[in-house]
Amino acid sequence: MICEDARPLMHAYVDGELGLAESLAIEAHLRSCVACAREQSNVLALRAAFSNGTLYYEAPAHLKRRVRAAARDARRAEHGRGFALGYLGWTGAAAAAVLLIAVIGKGVLPLGPLTGDVTAREIINDHLRSLTQNHLTDVLSSNQHTVKPWFDGRLNFTPPVEDLSAEGFPLVGGRLDYLDNRPVAAVVYRRRQHVINLFILPAEHTNDTLPVSQVRAGYNIVNWTKSGMVYWAVSSLNAAELEKFAQLVREENSAALTPSR
Ligand SMILES: [Zn+2]
Repeated sequence: MICEDARPLMHAYVDGELGLAESLAIEAHLRSCVACAREQSNVLALRAAFSNGTLYYEAPAHLKRRVRAAARDARRAEHGRGFALGYLGWTGAAAAAVLLIAVIGKGVLPLGPLTGDVTAREIINDHLRSLTQNHLTDVLSSNQHTVKPWFDGRLNFTPPVEDLSAEGFPLVGGRLDYLDNRPVAAVVYRRRQHVINLFILPAEHTNDTLPVSQVRAGYNIVNWTKSGMVYWAVSSLNAAELEKFAQLVREENSAALTPSR
């Protein structure tokens, strides 16, 4: 992990809101980076200041009355909408959640195979795990004719692997990874000091989709579907360059797939 990756996650790290992989990555970085360690102590100091009693003061009576009145109005407004927390209360909400989990557990509710949200989170976790656990590649080669055949027999599909070094995205290698408990191809590229993980898996639906960009936990993600494959590119690289990368991969594999079909 580099400073650029660590900084956006700092507050969530200090608040204990990160997953294990993310926390370990930050801890490792903080041990070796004085600047980020200083940033961490600033965040800690800020948090301590906020929880310190000296910043609190007793609200004057007229303000308390206004806040209570506003809360009462809001609760009344919610009653009309039926399923509102204010009406149900937290115990009711908890019971509803337990019931919902029980229903899901029995498979009564159809859960989509890959919801956008779950997958984006998994993509980030897989990306961070690859950076922190010394397991970026299973096959380390900048040669597409070495990386592509490596996946043969390890997956029940053949991921396209392109050489984009001429365009400034050298191939680093490939690795077997998992998304939604299914084995997927992770093809690793580099742009300057930024690692790009390109996850490739068979598509549930065959329709091609245009690249969609999003930012999660400070990382840029672009995903699209093409020729029966779903692609997820993730990196600390800026959005514009990652989109450029996505564009190149899409162009290259249409060129590669056309003659063989
Ligand atoms: Zn740093």
